[in-house]
Amino acid sequence: MMTRWAVVSDFDGSFTEMDGAVGLLDHYTDVDWRKLDDLFDTDEITLRILMEKEADMLNCTRSEMIEFALKNMIVRKGAVEFIKLCQERSIPVTIASEGFVDYIEKILEREGLEGVTVHANRLIWEDKLIVGLSHPSGSEDCDKCGTCKENIVKEYQAQGYKVVYIGDGISDLCGSRVADKRFARDRLAKDLGKKGMEFTPFEDFHLISEFVRSNPS
Ligand SMILES: [Zn+2]
Repeated sequence: MMTRWAVVSDFDGSFTEMDGAVGLLDHYTDVDWRKLDDLFDTDEITLRILMEKEADMLNCTRSEMIEFALKNMIVRKGAVEFIKLCQERSIPVTIASEGFVDYIEKILEREGLEGVTVHANRLIWEDKLIVGLSHPSGSEDCDKCGTCKENIVKEYQAQGYKVVYIGDGISDLCGSRVADKRFARDRLAKDLGKKGMEFTPFEDFHLISEFVRSNPS
């Protein structure tokens, strides 16, 4: 029997070149938000709390945010073609992100991509201001993540799929750890390396498309 593959990809810094949350924070807050990353690194706060605190710090309207994202967040080379290749081959693709669905959907739309499942946090707006962060793809089993990427991978596996994981950051470690094939860059590549876990480094999506082509599903 042929292996059935599914793809779970991170968005910020993986699908796109820029990490949108980082870009937005650098642009729309005056406080030293990077200190929050240290709290996460030392296990003082969870990823879910980290994202909520970051959202709290953002000082922009929804239209400013979307305009900023559309202007600055270019997609990584070969990413759009990769999604289309998967769609042609009926390989399910899920974007799993600790970023904000608010701009992710707009960028997919800009790139002419339809039918991509997106699991991400959603900002709560009131009178054009951010008043909170909701986790529509949070997991009942895990209150550490806003979007539990590990659960998303495991759900595919429970349906009989093998999972390709694509990621770059601290939110990708749990999900990639349980995946069947890993593509990693930046911080995730370092973290997987430290743990002695196998992965393929990537800087664009051509290599990942090549993997899909040579592993028919
Ligand atoms: Zn989780």
